[in-house]
Amino acid sequence: MKFYYANEKEIKEGKTTDIYFVRTEEILRKRNVKTHVVAEFTVQSLPDSYDFAVFSGLYEVLNLLEGLPVNVYALKEGTIFKNISYNGIPVPVMYIEGIYADFARYETPALGLICQASGIATKAARIKREAGDSIVLSFGIRRMHPALAPFIDRNAYIGGCDGVSSIKGAEVLNLPPKGTMPHALMLTMGEENAWKSYDEILDESIPRIALVDTFCDEKFSSLKATEVFKKLDAVRLDTPGSRRGNFARIVREVRWELDIRGFNNVGIIVSGGLDEYSIKPLKEAGATGFGVGTSISNAPTIDYAMDIVEVNGKPVAKRGKFSGKKNVYRCSECGEYMVTYETYHNNRCPVCGGRTEPMIVEVMKNGEKLHYKEDNPQKIREYVLSQLKLYIKRD
Ligand SMILES: [Zn+2]
Repeated sequence: MKFYYANEKEIKEGKTTDIYFVRTEEILRKRNVKTHVVAEFTVQSLPDSYDFAVFSGLYEVLNLLEGLPVNVYALKEGTIFKNISYNGIPVPVMYIEGIYADFARYETPALGLICQASGIATKAARIKREAGDSIVLSFGIRRMHPALAPFIDRNAYIGGCDGVSSIKGAEVLNLPPKGTMPHALMLTMGEENAWKSYDEILDESIPRIALVDTFCDEKFSSLKATEVFKKLDAVRLDTPGSRRGNFARIVREVRWELDIRGFNNVGIIVSGGLDEYSIKPLKEAGATGFGVGTSISNAPTIDYAMDIVEVNGKPVAKRGKFSGKKNVYRCSECGEYMVTYETYHNNRCPVCGGRTEPMIVEVMKNGEKLHYKEDNPQKIREYVLSQLKLYIKRD
């Protein structure tokens, strides 16, 4: 192999599963065990005490399971959920039902898809929640295996990023890729020459964003850039850690110097080691855009587990898990989740009295996709952003 990744055919055949599932299938087949089960996907705890997670990866899971004799029920892709209901029950995000031996081997790849996809989308949503109207760009593909670039950028975008840097990622999202300029450009041709050439050579549709921290002080270089570019759109500060001191104060100073000279419309994009905790002070200091890398591409996974909760129509689960196929409701006012065994006819949130809505949708019947036949990341992203309002921190 030149590059170590499993291709679509191998994933579909279950080659990326754990061997014990294949051995289990063999035993069940040889003994002709046709136990019908309901398998539930839940999360016991979220990374870093997150107050919510974004459910993502369903489109790929349905492609994985397509053609198997199974039914699938799930939250809609992009649903923001709390992992534990208001009364302490883990919130199911997905169910697979069928003869266990028919889908046992797909537990591992199905989990892998939703755990990592949801981890990336959740991190992006947490960052976008802080950034608000400011632009967030996904810059993190360089920290991960290149085969994953479209996966990372799709989920970063779904979670709320406004643009992505990878060509392949942008291609699957049907968007233009976004980027500024690397330090290499200034190092190979000198700063002023690099800026001038960028302005002269590149198509007008590409925003003029000058990287201003290569050799000199951000303030003086920003002012210089306003002179070199015919119409500067923004400066980018990627100030190295060793020079940062107080990054927000640098941003505030650059903002001030640009503003008093009439460059109020020149934005300030910041990048380098950003996460959801560093956005707020930089935004308050005047940053208008954020290039976020590793914290998104290497986001902690959402650790879903798959557990059998029903066997041949009867509630059964291992120790530590709640048995039975459940109903999941969300309050449209406060965002709290309710998990019930019987259908909840009251429709009122027990926490705030708001309206509750059922959240689980039948997405696959006997191996046939009922939804998500085509991917629609734009629509899923809008759905994520529309729900973020429910989860604004009240601190
Ligand atoms: Zn409520």
